[in-house]
Amino acid sequence: MKVHGSCHCGSLRYEAEIDPARVTICHCTDCQALTGSAYRVSVPVSKDDFVLLAGVPTVYVKTAESGARRAQAFCGNCGSPLYTYAADHPSGYGLRVGCIDERRLLTPTRQVWCRSALPWSMNTEALPRHEKESSG
Ligand SMILES: [Zn+2]
Ligand SMILES: [Zn+2]
Repeated sequence: MKVHGSCHCGSLRYEAEIDPARVTICHCTDCQALTGSAYRVSVPVSKDDFVLLAGVPTVYVKTAESGARRAQAFCGNCGSPLYTYAADHPSGYGLRVGCIDERRLLTPTRQVWCRSALPWSMNTEALPRHEKESSG
Protein backbone atom coordinates (compact mmCIF):
# COMPACT_ATOMS: atom_id res chain seq x y z
CA MET A 1 0.00 0.00 0.00
CA LYS A 2 1.35 3.39 -1.03
CA VAL A 3 1.46 5.95 1.81
CA HIS A 4 2.46 9.60 2.05
CA GLY A 5 4.04 11.03 5.17
CA SER A 6 4.78 14.53 6.36
CA CYS A 7 5.58 16.36 9.56
CA HIS A 8 3.20 18.91 11.07
CA CYS A 9 4.88 21.96 9.48
CA GLY A 10 5.28 20.24 6.10
CA SER A 11 9.03 20.69 5.64
CA LEU A 12 9.64 16.91 5.68
CA ARG A 13 7.77 14.70 3.22
CA TYR A 14 8.18 11.08 2.15
CA GLU A 15 6.50 8.30 0.22
CA ALA A 16 6.61 4.62 1.09
CA GLU A 17 5.18 1.26 0.10
CA ILE A 18 4.06 -0.54 3.27
CA ASP A 19 2.24 -3.68 4.35
CA PRO A 20 -0.83 -2.41 6.26
CA ALA A 21 -1.04 -5.75 8.12
CA ARG A 22 2.16 -4.91 10.01
CA VAL A 23 1.00 -1.89 12.02
CA THR A 24 2.14 -2.30 15.64
CA ILE A 25 1.54 -0.52 18.93
CA CYS A 26 4.62 -0.29 21.17
CA HIS A 27 4.15 0.37 24.88
CA CYS A 28 7.85 0.44 25.80
CA THR A 29 9.03 3.26 28.07
CA ASP A 30 11.35 4.64 25.36
CA CYS A 31 8.41 5.01 22.98
CA GLN A 32 6.41 6.72 25.70
CA ALA A 33 9.16 9.31 26.25
CA LEU A 34 10.07 9.71 22.57
CA THR A 35 6.47 10.31 21.52
CA GLY A 36 5.51 12.28 24.63
CA SER A 37 2.45 10.04 24.72
CA ALA A 38 1.16 6.73 26.02
CA TYR A 39 2.45 4.54 23.18
CA ARG A 40 3.79 4.61 19.66
CA VAL A 41 2.05 3.24 16.58
CA SER A 42 4.36 2.39 13.70
CA VAL A 43 4.68 0.33 10.54
CA PRO A 44 7.94 -1.01 9.08
CA VAL A 45 9.14 -0.38 5.54
CA SER A 46 12.24 -1.69 3.79
CA LYS A 47 14.89 0.79 2.69
CA ASP A 48 14.08 0.28 -0.99
CA ASP A 49 10.42 1.12 -0.49
CA PHE A 50 10.99 4.48 1.18
CA VAL A 51 11.75 7.82 -0.51
CA LEU A 52 12.39 11.06 1.33
CA LEU A 53 10.89 13.72 -0.96
CA ALA A 54 11.65 16.92 0.92
CA GLY A 55 13.61 18.17 3.89
CA VAL A 56 16.44 16.88 6.07
CA PRO A 57 15.38 15.33 9.37
CA THR A 58 17.15 15.96 12.65
CA VAL A 59 18.36 12.68 14.14
CA TYR A 60 18.64 11.61 17.76
CA VAL A 61 20.41 8.31 18.38
CA LYS A 62 19.13 6.23 21.27
CA THR A 63 21.37 3.50 22.66
CA ALA A 64 19.51 0.52 24.08
CA GLU A 65 20.70 -1.61 26.99
CA SER A 66 21.77 -4.19 24.40
CA GLY A 67 24.04 -1.58 22.81
CA ALA A 68 21.85 -1.33 19.72
CA ARG A 69 21.81 2.20 18.36
CA ARG A 70 18.44 3.33 17.07
CA ALA A 71 18.14 6.60 15.16
CA GLN A 72 15.03 8.69 15.71
CA ALA A 73 14.36 11.03 12.79
CA PHE A 74 12.23 14.05 13.56
CA CYS A 75 11.55 17.52 12.18
CA GLY A 76 13.93 20.08 13.68
CA ASN A 77 11.33 22.77 13.06
CA CYS A 78 8.04 21.34 14.38
CA GLY A 79 9.30 18.30 16.31
CA SER A 80 7.10 15.67 14.66
CA PRO A 81 8.70 12.22 15.07
CA LEU A 82 8.66 10.72 11.58
CA TYR A 83 10.58 7.45 11.64
CA THR A 84 13.29 5.34 13.24
CA TYR A 85 16.03 3.09 11.87
CA ALA A 86 19.10 1.13 12.94
CA ALA A 87 21.74 3.85 13.24
CA ASP A 88 24.67 1.73 12.09
CA HIS A 89 23.18 -0.54 9.42
CA PRO A 90 19.84 0.85 8.29
CA SER A 91 17.92 -1.82 6.36
CA GLY A 92 14.54 -0.20 6.74
CA TYR A 93 12.50 2.31 8.65
CA GLY A 94 9.81 2.27 11.30
CA LEU A 95 7.30 4.87 10.15
CA ARG A 96 5.22 6.60 12.81
CA VAL A 97 1.64 6.25 11.80
CA GLY A 98 0.52 9.66 13.09
CA CYS A 99 2.51 11.40 10.34
CA ILE A 100 1.02 9.29 7.51
CA ASP A 101 -1.81 10.83 5.47
CA GLU A 102 -3.55 7.45 5.10
CA ARG A 103 -3.41 6.71 8.87
CA ARG A 104 -7.16 6.13 9.17
CA LEU A 105 -6.67 3.01 7.07
CA LEU A 106 -3.84 1.67 9.22
CA THR A 107 -5.25 -0.41 12.05
CA PRO A 108 -2.76 -2.02 14.46
CA THR A 109 -2.62 -5.81 14.41
CA ARG A 110 -0.54 -6.35 17.55
CA GLN A 111 0.85 -4.69 20.70
CA VAL A 112 4.33 -5.17 22.13
CA TRP A 113 5.99 -4.32 25.46
CA CYS A 114 2.62 -4.59 27.20
CA ARG A 115 4.35 -5.07 30.55
CA SER A 116 5.17 -1.34 30.59
CA ALA A 117 1.86 -0.17 29.14
CA LEU A 118 0.11 2.59 31.07
CA PRO A 119 -2.77 0.62 32.62
CA TRP A 120 -5.52 2.88 31.24
CA SER A 121 -4.11 2.76 27.72
CA MET A 122 -5.25 -0.83 27.22
CA ASN A 123 -8.86 0.26 27.32
CA THR A 124 -10.23 3.76 26.74
CA GLU A 125 -13.61 2.43 25.66
CA ALA A 126 -15.49 3.69 28.71
CA LEU A 127 -14.24 7.30 28.66
CA PRO A 128 -16.77 10.03 27.82
CA ARG A 129 -16.53 11.07 24.16
CA HIS A 130 -16.65 14.45 22.43
CA GLU A 131 -16.51 15.09 18.70
CA LYS A 132 -14.17 18.01 19.37
CA GLU A 133 -12.24 19.22 22.39
CA SER A 134 -14.62 19.92 25.25
CA SER A 135 -14.40 20.77 28.90
CA GLY A 136 -18.00 19.67 29.44
ZN1 LIG B 1 8.05 19.94 10.56
ZN1 LIG C 1 8.80 1.01 21.88
